[in-house]
Amino acid sequence: MTTANWVDTTMDGVAWAKTCGEDRPERPALEGEAEADLVIVGAGFLGTMTALRAAQAGLKVLVLEGGRVASGASGRNGGYVVPHFPGAVSPQMVEGYLGREKGRKLCELVMSGPNRLAEIVKHYRIRSDYLQNGWLQPAHDEVALGKTRAIYEQWKSLGAPVSWLDAGEVAAELGAGGYLGGWRNPEGAVINPMGQSLGFARAAEAEGAVIHEHSRVESIVQDPGQKAVVRGENFRVTAGKVLIATNAYTDDLLPELRKTVIPVRLWHTTTKPLSPELRKTILPNNACFTDLRKSGGFGRLDIEGRLVSGGSCLGVARDAKGYGLAHARARINALYPALRGQPLEFDSYWEGYVAVTDNYLPHMQRLRPDVFSVIGFGTRGVNLAPNLGLLLGDFFGGKLGLADIPLEQVDGVRKIAAHGIKSAVAQQIFPYYKFRDRKSFVV
Ligand SMILES: Cc1cc2nc3c(=O)[nH]c(=O)nc-3n(C[C@H](O)[C@H](O)[C@H](O)COP(=O)(O)OP(=O)(O)OC[C@H]3O[C@@H](n4cnc5c(N)ncnc54)[C@H](O)[C@@H]3O)c2cc1C
Repeated sequence: MTTANWVDTTMDGVAWAKTCGEDRPERPALEGEAEADLVIVGAGFLGTMTALRAAQAGLKVLVLEGGRVASGASGRNGGYVVPHFPGAVSPQMVEGYLGREKGRKLCELVMSGPNRLAEIVKHYRIRSDYLQNGWLQPAHDEVALGKTRAIYEQWKSLGAPVSWLDAGEVAAELGAGGYLGGWRNPEGAVINPMGQSLGFARAAEAEGAVIHEHSRVESIVQDPGQKAVVRGENFRVTAGKVLIATNAYTDDLLPELRKTVIPVRLWHTTTKPLSPELRKTILPNNACFTDLRKSGGFGRLDIEGRLVSGGSCLGVARDAKGYGLAHARARINALYPALRGQPLEFDSYWEGYVAVTDNYLPHMQRLRPDVFSVIGFGTRGVNLAPNLGLLLGDFFGGKLGLADIPLEQVDGVRKIAAHGIKSAVAQQIFPYYKFRDRKSFVV
């Protein structure tokens, strides 16, 4: 697979295109010879925010995007800006993976991330419907209750503005039934990700970065003592530094890189806008939530009241869309008592890829003396990727050192053991998650 057939540049079926307030200008492909202080491969949240900060520091920045801005995960995600790590990955676990100092820095970045993004959105007048009405992690059973309570306590001890909600308070906030309690961070937000992605690109350009679409990088070479050379079909760029920001869409630009993440194919769908009556009980305050069920226990509304649902695609399903919509129908019915027995109509279905690592955190790899990659963003990249991008921009701009980047860092690649098997399992595992979660629904 290559970027060309992984990335759907049309955005057909993506709900966010219906309400996106940002323009989507076509940017010309790069042709011929060029030079840059920093070449960034991939114009998602990570690439564009790195570009913005590095350009502010005075670097000549060139962003090369194989598809179009917003056509990767950044423009097609669920739009939850979550001040937490994936699932049950807790602040203490992160400190365990990264060491106390780096782990603490990453927690602080994640904790302060939604407010920082809100400032950027405001400063550049990004039309992404940024709405900061809080994110909840509710507990669907006793085991999850223990885990979420421990996670809540850890964030609280770090100074996050979190609060604990009992079962009744969770039900009132979500309009979803069956939860035993949960915690809330009022700084969590929802966005139109397509608007945010296009807006970030516009902001990076306003600071002087240059973005080329339809410019897939095919190889990167750095000979000893020489600058890195980045090549595509019709271009050749000499680069002071290179950042590979291709996440799950990483192809063969450096052959060893693909085995450092497991791509997971996800689907999302939206119902038609809910009636004003239903909106009084379902997410009445426009908060969003994600529980610990891996088979799709999350919810939010878009700006017009569409309810978002999703899950991971079943690779062997002949009709992935049919499979996804049937699951969404059942799951929405199980989650929201007010929707039981109501005719449910869906008005969008789309897919995209995230990248998973063995500790669910991205890592930084130094692949050649001046060539770095930061990939491995799973389902929490909406907050984490752009905020890390800002730090990376400061690193490339000379304002921060490598030690200031709160990620695991390796020279060379950090391959995932049994990569082929794990990748195959990732494409087929959804029915197992559904089976495991089935008992937690009280219908
Ligand atoms: C359906 C779905 C729902 C999600 N929901 C959420 C959510 O609600 N909250 C959350 O926090 N996270 C969510 N995520 C994850 C989040 O979207 C990602 O973690 C984040 O967007 C990653 O950003 P990125 O910039 O690293 O990668 P991407 O946005 O994927 O960008 C990578 C870019 O690299 C380009 N590229 C790849 N190879 C090349 C090449 N050789 N040359 C040039 N360009 C190349 C691609 O075209 C792509 O545009 C979701 C993801 C999906 C797919």
